[in-house]
Order: sequence, then C-alpha cells, then structure tokens
Amino acid sequence: MNDMYPCFIDAHLHLQDDAFSSKAGFLIENAKKAGVAVLLCNAVKEPDWPVIVELGKNYGSVIPFLGIHPWHADSAAPGWETRLIDILGSLHQGSGIGESGLDKKCSTDFGLQLKLFETHLEIAYSLSLPIALHCVRGWGTFVDILESYSRRNRLPATMIHSFSGSYETMKRLTDIGCFISYSINIMDPRWKKMDEVFTRTPLAQLLLETDAPGQLLSPPGFNSRETVTTFSEPILIPAFYRWAAQKQNNELSHFKTQIWRNGQIYTNQTFGG
Ligand SMILES: [Zn+2]
Repeated sequence: MNDMYPCFIDAHLHLQDDAFSSKAGFLIENAKKAGVAVLLCNAVKEPDWPVIVELGKNYGSVIPFLGIHPWHADSAAPGWETRLIDILGSLHQGSGIGESGLDKKCSTDFGLQLKLFETHLEIAYSLSLPIALHCVRGWGTFVDILESYSRRNRLPATMIHSFSGSYETMKRLTDIGCFISYSINIMDPRWKKMDEVFTRTPLAQLLLETDAPGQLLSPPGFNSRETVTTFSEPILIPAFYRWAAQKQNNELSHFKTQIWRNGQIYTNQTFGG
C-alpha cells in the first residue's frame, strides 16, 4: 500500500452529469493539479456506463463505478445485470458498483428499488468489487439488509455515500465494516445537525466526497475562484479535508494519510498518487 505520498480522494461524484457537458476532462486535470488524485465516478443509469468507462480509460485518476441509482430503478432494461457484469469484466483497471441503494423520498416503486439494490449487492459480492450506496429515509430496511448480508459473510466492501443518518445508524453500519462518506454539503451551517455524527465517525472508516455536480454551497473556507463551473467540483475536496480534519480534531497530514489508506482498503487498489 502506498502511504508515502498521500493525495486527496473525491470518494463519490458524477463527472458524466450533463451539468459538466464537455468540461469533465478539464475538471479532472484541474483537480489533479490541486492534488486530487483519485475520483470515484458513479453512474446513475445504464447510458452513463460507456461514458464513465471512457473517462476511466483516458484519466488515470478516475475509477469507474457502474450501476443504476434508485431514482432510475424503473429505467433498468431487461438484461441490465448481464450487461453490467460483462462491461465490468472487460475493464483493465479498478472499478466498483454504484450507485445503488434505497430512497423512500423519491416516487420510484420501492419494491423495484429493493430488487435492484439486492442484485447490485450480489454482483458486488460475486465480482469482489466495492459498492457505493445511497440511502434517503428507509434507513431501517437498508441497515437490516446490510446486516443480514454481513451475517452470511456476503457483504462486499461497502460505502454509504452522502451519509445523513443518525448516530445509531452510523454505529450499526460501521460495526459491520461499512465506510461512511460525507458530502461537502455538511460544511454548510444548515447541516449543523450532522456535526456530532460526523465527529464520532471512526477515522478508519471515513471518506469524503463532493457528490459533484451536487449543489455548490458557499460556506466559509471556500474560494469560489478555484471553481470553473457553478456546481460542486472535485477541486473543492482539499478545502473539505481542512474543515473535516479540524472537526475531527486531527492534524491534516495524518487525517489525509488515513483517508488515503481508507480509499485503498475500500477499493482494494493501490493508489499511485
Ligand atoms: Zn451520487
């Protein structure tokens, strides 16, 4: 494992999003200059897959995560599972499954979401790939499912992205070995309610993300001149690390090294930096 030169990781984002159109390459290069050397780029629907695979081929920092988001569960066309396995099998680089999960706030049929969620988990397990998960409301069902997988020793390397649950939920998830990733929006004072859960999340299971192009907020500590779009961008990750290290009462270089290590454990990859 390369701990010698830890860089920043954006543990969850969507470079293929229409909001970025042709700017993805520029955003990746720009972030790289700021020391952001690993980007876990997540699909939300099947048409994203080839776009993300191409980004992964062209840019060494991009790790493709392919899957179907619960918001788009009803877009899953017959045979998607086989096509997903085939495309992942054709990759000659690190990859993962994502994003998948459950969302009780959206109107997509919950039964369908559950079916897709369990299929993604099975694929991640059978291919020994990491999985990136989304959960909004429905935490009880979500954690019950992951706990039951872990009891059967079938829980793949799992990360809950943009975590917004309670301390008790975080505790149950970290107890079964999940990584917890926080989105940059928790820097906003309006998310102050997440401070305590964030501070109590074990550093060895923590990851940080922009969820770009997720909403760009302007909390203190941001230099908006760094960005090239009006959306959240991977170049904002270093500012988030600074904020997060302070909240966790940790020295930045130690904090950065630990998160670099977490990213390598989660993805089962050795990052070059
Ligand atoms: Zn996302």
